[in-house]
Amino acid sequence: MVYCSNSFPDRHYELSPIIESTYHTLNTNPLVKRGLDLIKADDERTLKNQITICEIPAPTFREEVRAEYYMHQLAAAGLNHVEMDSIGNVFGILRGTGKGPKLLVAAHLDTVFPEETDVKVRRIDGKCYAPGIGDNSKGLAALLSVIRALRDAQVKPVGDVIFCGNIGEEGLGDLAGIKAFFRDNTDIDGFIAVDGIGSKDIAYLATGSRRYEVTYRGPGGHSFGAFGVPSAIHAMGRAIAKISDLRTPADPKATFTVGVVSGGTSVNSIAAEATMLLDIRANATKELLELEAQVLEAVRSAKDDENRRWRTDSITVDAKLIGDRPAGSQAADSVIVQAACASIRTLGNTPYLQGPVSTDANIPIALGIPAICLGGGGRGGNAHSPDEWYENIDAFLGPQSIFLTILGLAGAHGICEPLLPLQGRSH
Ligand SMILES: [Zn+2]
Repeated sequence: MVYCSNSFPDRHYELSPIIESTYHTLNTNPLVKRGLDLIKADDERTLKNQITICEIPAPTFREEVRAEYYMHQLAAAGLNHVEMDSIGNVFGILRGTGKGPKLLVAAHLDTVFPEETDVKVRRIDGKCYAPGIGDNSKGLAALLSVIRALRDAQVKPVGDVIFCGNIGEEGLGDLAGIKAFFRDNTDIDGFIAVDGIGSKDIAYLATGSRRYEVTYRGPGGHSFGAFGVPSAIHAMGRAIAKISDLRTPADPKATFTVGVVSGGTSVNSIAAEATMLLDIRANATKELLELEAQVLEAVRSAKDDENRRWRTDSITVDAKLIGDRPAGSQAADSVIVQAACASIRTLGNTPYLQGPVSTDANIPIALGIPAICLGGGGRGGNAHSPDEWYENIDAFLGPQSIFLTILGLAGAHGICEPLLPLQGRSH
């Protein structure tokens, strides 16, 4: 998950009458209250789950050991039909009473840390230190607590709720797990991603990104003896200069960076090869695609300029798309955002509506399916760094707000009707 600076506490956010009345019904129901109490009582076990999960390495593309473990945990928590799909996502279904919406609730299994990283959790002064302890061991553990509470409080949703530990959220994973899930399951009506810490933030806007690996190639040669031959590095330098000069809109925000460069053979060689990694982002699809077109034009014309300089055509360029996350938005007062706000308020907190971020929710948001990203609870910091830490303070508020959001959206049998409309795609 990527945290952003422009989230704000929304004290004046207005709930619609239907949301107000649904949450009034839920909050005064003894079974729902029992579910919330069970989650609070489950706090210590949830922390234990979190630590166990964290200590199973799961770098993106190598999630299988953690996935196997999590699959068994989903079954132990009370889900039926637990399975692993062909790409490596693990999931199980909590069947509703039928005819309700289908809600997917997912936490990503992968971390940004390589296999050899020491992921042993150290507990110092009440805090837990380990890479991945919050992002996303907390999200994965929170989901298990929610499932146990639904089972033990015997609250049955109206719609089917699918709980999933998905692969490939981070970096070059490129949201592969959730992309595959939505490709193979066209009947999902709503989506909640549970990612990292916190219990007040709601992400509902999606920053899109397009990432490229660009490689220039040429004949290469001796810097003195072969002078007159074009250089792959010089061509790439021209491209970087052009890209650096691009102007982008502030709203919707659109950005670019050449993040990594490599290439060349030695100080006294004309480079035969040069590669750069490019990141292009925007909060809206139109701006994303416009900026991408400008960047790719700079990449191509830099090759032409270098060839023209030496009157040749021996420099070539190859731009390979290595990341593709769609952008998208939905209304701040949409049903799914309202349900999450109502749930967070019910627990005595003020919801924070985040600015656009990049999470698994990007995929359904871009498809027009209601989707949000919530935190798994607790406090922490330094996500994506070896110094990541976590503090188990009021941590039960995370799974409690997820529990309430699920019941509002999917409905609770004999208590309230689902808020989430059927998408009507495959129904
Ligand atoms: Zn994450």
